[in-house]
Amino acid sequence: MYRSGASVACQRQSVLWVAMKQGVTQAAANSAGGSIDYRLARDRTIRSYKTGEATRSEVCDAQSELMRNARECGVEVDRDCPICGETELVEVVYVFGPRLPAAGRCIVTEGDMERIRRRSGDFTAYDVEVCRSCKWNHLLRTNPVV
Ligand SMILES: [Zn+2]
Repeated sequence: MYRSGASVACQRQSVLWVAMKQGVTQAAANSAGGSIDYRLARDRTIRSYKTGEATRSEVCDAQSELMRNARECGVEVDRDCPICGETELVEVVYVFGPRLPAAGRCIVTEGDMERIRRRSGDFTAYDVEVCRSCKWNHLLRTNPVV
């Protein structure tokens, strides 16, 4: 899902706030092989918007740096935004781990990921869904980088 050969200067930004906002530690997540899937939490957030429990500004609150990364580094996906229905949905991948910036590293190319795989230590990739139109964003899954 990474761009090949792209040399986009990607902004580095923490997605920890995303995880915290979405209650990672309480997520009813499906876990397999160290991967955690946040579809249930995502569905709950979407449902809360559709039932009026949450406002659009509450669920479409991507910060400016996340929006910049979505525009510059986001990989387009073959599904529409669950909030606005536009086709501006992308996934942005951040990796956290030893000797990486505290705010994580935004992954642009498969080469970026390969360089992290060659390092020693435990690294975790966070896949975040972002709509470039309405600013919807949600953590999709976390995966150990192996
Ligand atoms: Zn949208």
